[in-house]
Amino acid sequence: MKIGFMRRSTALTVAASLALGMALGISTAAQADHQWSSYHWERDGIDPLIITVADNHVAVDANLPEWELILKSVVAGWASGADGGYGGLHFGTIDSSGSLDGNVPSFNDNYGDTGWLGIASIWVTRGKNKHITRGQSKVNDFYVTLAGYDGFDQIEEWRAVLCQEIGHTLGLAHTAVDYTCMNTEDRPLRYETPNAHDTEMLDAMYAEDHGSDGGGGGGGPCKKKKNKFCAGAIGVSRATWAEHYDSEEAMFDAADAVVDVTVMSSAFSGLIGRSQGAVPVTRVVLRVEDTLSGFTRPVIVLEQTRGPSLEIIDDPGYVQGDSYTLYLRQIDNNTYRTVNPSGRIRN
Ligand SMILES: [Zn+2]
Ligand SMILES: [Zn+2]
Repeated sequence: MKIGFMRRSTALTVAASLALGMALGISTAAQADHQWSSYHWERDGIDPLIITVADNHVAVDANLPEWELILKSVVAGWASGADGGYGGLHFGTIDSSGSLDGNVPSFNDNYGDTGWLGIASIWVTRGKNKHITRGQSKVNDFYVTLAGYDGFDQIEEWRAVLCQEIGHTLGLAHTAVDYTCMNTEDRPLRYETPNAHDTEMLDAMYAEDHGSDGGGGGGGPCKKKKNKFCAGAIGVSRATWAEHYDSEEAMFDAADAVVDVTVMSSAFSGLIGRSQGAVPVTRVVLRVEDTLSGFTRPVIVLEQTRGPSLEIIDDPGYVQGDSYTLYLRQIDNNTYRTVNPSGRIRN
């Protein structure tokens, strides 16, 4: 069993090219460093294009952080480029209160013990140039005051999570460098803002209006799903995982159970969360072939945040008949999740 090989190709490519660049001492073009694939918003003659983050946050409990204030500080951080923008792209917020107005609706809710602190989703056109037509951000109140793991009870950590989700919606991926919220390795999460390099990358990404670059997009960001430019857009999502282990041994010790399993079935089971910000849940039925740690029944259920409208890139669907070694967190009587995507190893 090897940890880390289950990372999907996108994450692997970003990490590998970054490592290669550093190993060769090459200062790669800013745009190549940690852009998320080639995803970017299309200006298409609009200058400046104003991307609005829509505040759909609510206070759920007096102990929870004030999400509206966190969102404001996060957006202010991302809007700190030259005169509040990057090239021809500017950034602002609107108070949305449950509607889907705005380009990037941002939500919080108690989504339960899903394993993730936040999810960023973007919808991109299918053409050669991948234009972002809309985005979405979600943070999971479940972990805010939960003891255990690293204890996500600090407002700084949630500023870091939300900052990363919003950064993804601008077209950025992860980086291992310090002092930016796009760093996902350092725990506790403590970088609450973008850094100057993020700003440089966004400046480069949005310096030019290339509305005629044949991306199959055009027409600016999607206002409605039915917009002809956006109807065929594909959703892609990333998560910030709650649990993070530096070694396989540490993950083995921390897991409630470690099992070899065969996938019996996988099915969408419903939505959790307030209407517009809800996420799909898929239940995967697994036959336990061998128990390496802990105790499980012969047949167990795995819950996964996944469904017709959302798939997290490093935690894709399970296929019937496939076999895995799984590092599990028990979330109910016979229901589990993987500790994180590193705890899912295809055999
Ligand atoms: Zn373009
Ligand atoms: Zn992320």
